[in-house]
This record gives sequence, C-alpha cells and structure tokens, in this order.
Amino acid sequence: MLETQKKGRYGEFGGQYIPETLMTQLEIIDREYHRLKNDSSFRAELNDLLVNYANRPSLLYYAKNMTEDLGGAQIYLKREDLNHTGAHKINNVIGQALVAKHLGKTRLIAETGAGQHGVATATIAALFGMECEIFMGKEDTERQKLNVYRMELLGAKVHPVTTGSMVLKDAVNATMQEWASRIDDTFYILGSAVGPAPFPEMVHDFQSVISKEAKQQLQEKKHTLPDMVVACVGGGSNAIGSFADFIDDPSVQLVGVEAAGKGVDSNRTAATIERGSVGIFHGMKSLFLQDQNGQIDKVYSISAGLDYPGVGPEHAALAEEGRAQYVGITDDEAVAAFEYIAREEGIVAAIESCHAVAYVQKIAPTMRQDQIIICTLSGRGDKDVASIAKYKGVEIDD
Ligand SMILES: *Cc1c(COP(=O)(O)O)cnc(C)c1O
Repeated sequence: MLETQKKGRYGEFGGQYIPETLMTQLEIIDREYHRLKNDSSFRAELNDLLVNYANRPSLLYYAKNMTEDLGGAQIYLKREDLNHTGAHKINNVIGQALVAKHLGKTRLIAETGAGQHGVATATIAALFGMECEIFMGKEDTERQKLNVYRMELLGAKVHPVTTGSMVLKDAVNATMQEWASRIDDTFYILGSAVGPAPFPEMVHDFQSVISKEAKQQLQEKKHTLPDMVVACVGGGSNAIGSFADFIDDPSVQLVGVEAAGKGVDSNRTAATIERGSVGIFHGMKSLFLQDQNGQIDKVYSISAGLDYPGVGPEHAALAEEGRAQYVGITDDEAVAAFEYIAREEGIVAAIESCHAVAYVQKIAPTMRQDQIIICTLSGRGDKDVASIAKYKGVEIDD
C-alpha cells in the first residue's frame, strides 16, 4: 500500500475516497490540523469556548433511582444534554469552526438530517461572525420545519436538497459538491465521525472531551474505572467521544447501541454494523447498509439522528477487532426507555440517547452491584416530545 493510502486508516477502514479537487484541500486541513492539535494556544482557545460558551464540563450524574430500580450495576449518566444547544454536537462544531478560522475561512457549510448539526453549525457561525449555509434533504426540511426556522433565525441559509431520496445521505453529497465548487473561503463542518480523513480523527479528538471528563469525574467520585461505557451510534461521534479515553483500558467494556428500527432483521432498520457490509461512500471505506448491487439502502429509525446508512471507520475497526461491541435497540424499546428515564430520573432525554438507556435497562440487572456503567446522554429530548406523543397515539395541537 502506498504511504498516502495509509493515511487516516483504521485497519482496512477509513482513507480518502474523494474527487481530485478536494484532495489538495484535505491535505492542507490535515497538515494544519496536526499542527494546531499540539499548539497550546489553539488548545486554550478551544477550552475557553467549551467552558465559557458550551457550558462544559458536563455533569457525570449518579442515577440513583434507575440503579435501585434495575438492581444491578451502578449507573452514571454523562449529561451531554446539558450543553449549550442541547447535545454533544457543539463540541465538534466548535473545534472544526476554530480550525476553519485558523485556515482563514469565512464561510461554513454543513449537512444536516433532523437539523441538530445544522443548528449547532449555525450557532457557531453566528458567534464567529461567519457566513453559514446548511444543506438539508427536502424531505427533512418538511419534517423539521422548526429547525429550519431556527437555523434561519441564527443567520444561516438553508438549501433543500432535491436529489436522491432527499434525505441525510443526499445532503452530505450536496455539501461535498458545494465544497468542491467553492473551496477558497469555505470549510465543510462534518457532523459525525465519518467522511474522508482527517474528519473522523478530528471528530474523535473534539468529542473525546466526553470520555476525558467522565474518566476524571468517576475517578474523583469512586476512585475507579467504569466496567462498561454505553453510547448510541448514528455516524458514531458521541460514541467515539465516549469511548476514546477508555480504548486503552482493556477492563472497560465498550458498547455502541445502534437503532434497529423495526428490528435488526427487518428491512426497516439503521443497524449498520450488525447488518451492513464493506463499501465506499461519503469519502470513506466503512460498513454500509447496501443492496446486492452495492447501492446504499434506505435506512429507517424512529430517531432522525441515528438514521444514517453508514458508520464511522473507527467503529467499523473497533467492531472487527472485537474491542467494542455493537447491539441493536428497536423503536419500541427506545420509546419505552424515553418514558422510563423521564419517570425515574426526571430527565427528558433525546430519543437517540434513549437507545443507549434501553440497553442499560437490559444489561444493568445482569451485572453486580459493585460494577459501574457510564451511559452517555447525547442530547435532550424536548425536540422529540411531540413525535413520541404521536407514536403513542396522543394528539397534540401545535
Ligand atoms: C446527531 C445525534 C446523534 C447521532 O450522531 P452520532 O454522530 O452517532 O453521535 C445522537 N444523539 C443526538 C442527541 C444527536 O443529535
């Protein structure tokens, strides 16, 4: 293998599968990012924004009621839902926007599915006084009108994407194309641990604040490592951030929870690692849900944030090596967890995060009371209340 082909590899996964026009730009970003990564003033600037804008560190909360109710392992929740804008996405967006600023870029573009990443990007663009354009599948703009308006309120322009099935994967393609056509002043802020190198690495690094904090917080409270870390997996950014600082601690079991939708074996699922196969898409080699002709399959999950047909290359490698385990949770199980954590702990968590909570409900009772689970709550659930009510057959006027 040529040296350049080894760049950004996780085992056989990762790499850079992109048009020639973007290659030079990615090399510039790669070089600049590796310089900045070790630059103390960049790190101080990043940390200042995380603390004073995003409200970090997030709490590591002991879920006493859940622990007692489930009667097994002690459960700690890493509260990314308490960050500014209500999810972990802000950690990554702040980091990439700072890289963009250092590269002299004045315009940020991004894809969004449900609108969470678009909102986070529009937020930072407003803060930094940068231009912002968001690409969103036309289907999604119709389903998520409130987030479209929120992005516009923050000063962003939202482009409905009308190619393909007009959903997230098409929005990624459209953003890549836009980037290739206007590189000089523009930076593409990718929303998950996916895409060509060095994006998965940048996202890993910027989200690793989750596990660095959690490790230290648990050390202070219990003077020990957790036995298990659980996080939901869409593209895999909150999960890789939750795993990062524990990957080299072999005693810590890492569990990524995928959205099984109507069931891992049904044809309405987003369980990419369990059901997918090796392919090349969105600039990376990884696992994707594909049909027999290698076309990307339609994905389905009740949670818009987990509705991605692929997964980040580092997760594909962690799964292959057996360092992390990946399990599926269905819509019904996630909705039950949404209600459970609200009633037990008084926390309305994002339906994405509730996939992780549902797995904790299953696994905690099988563990000893001296064992510890850290479960990441990737976001807050306000955005989901109306659709869960509908799922339960409750009519809400809006
Ligand atoms: C976007 C999102 C996810 C899924 O994305 P990952 O990159 O897999 O973390 C999960 N939870 C919330 C709240 C999200 O907004």
